[in-house]
Amino acid sequence: MTVEPWQEPKPTIDHVRRLVQRIQSYARTSRIMGLLSSALLVSLMIELGILMYMTYIPLILGGTGFPLPQWFYYLLMLTFVLSMVIYGIAGTVNARLNRYILEYKKIGVVVRLQCDECNRTTERIWEKDDFVFKKAGTCACGGSQYISQMYIMPLPLEKKDALS
Ligand SMILES: [Zn+2]
Repeated sequence: MTVEPWQEPKPTIDHVRRLVQRIQSYARTSRIMGLLSSALLVSLMIELGILMYMTYIPLILGGTGFPLPQWFYYLLMLTFVLSMVIYGIAGTVNARLNRYILEYKKIGVVVRLQCDECNRTTERIWEKDDFVFKKAGTCACGGSQYISQMYIMPLPLEKKDALS
């Protein structure tokens, strides 16, 4: 009995392709969520700074402070709530992305089978003990197939989506 690097059922090439697409779209969402939460954090800091400068510091110094309009407090609250929501979504997205990447690392290696007779190629997921030029079954035409290539299914990601 051989121990395969995945759990049953055995994944197919389509499975890996779908996984790659999912990783790509989750990485994009994760990037957007990261930008959004940075933007919200900066606005929150600016709003808190205004509140400190206009209200609390004058109060501490013995003045009356500058009264801020009602909407400012609503804005502050809205920014805070939005940051929390985006932070939560980003956490979920990143957790999923990490899970998909872990799965990809297990099944992302593809083996190309080529027929001796008709040169037709098919692909499947790497299995334990596969090596290049290994004989691997028969083609639909009756010729015997061998492993002609092994490669990692490319992840179409930008450099900054560093996969550690
Ligand atoms: Zn063939």
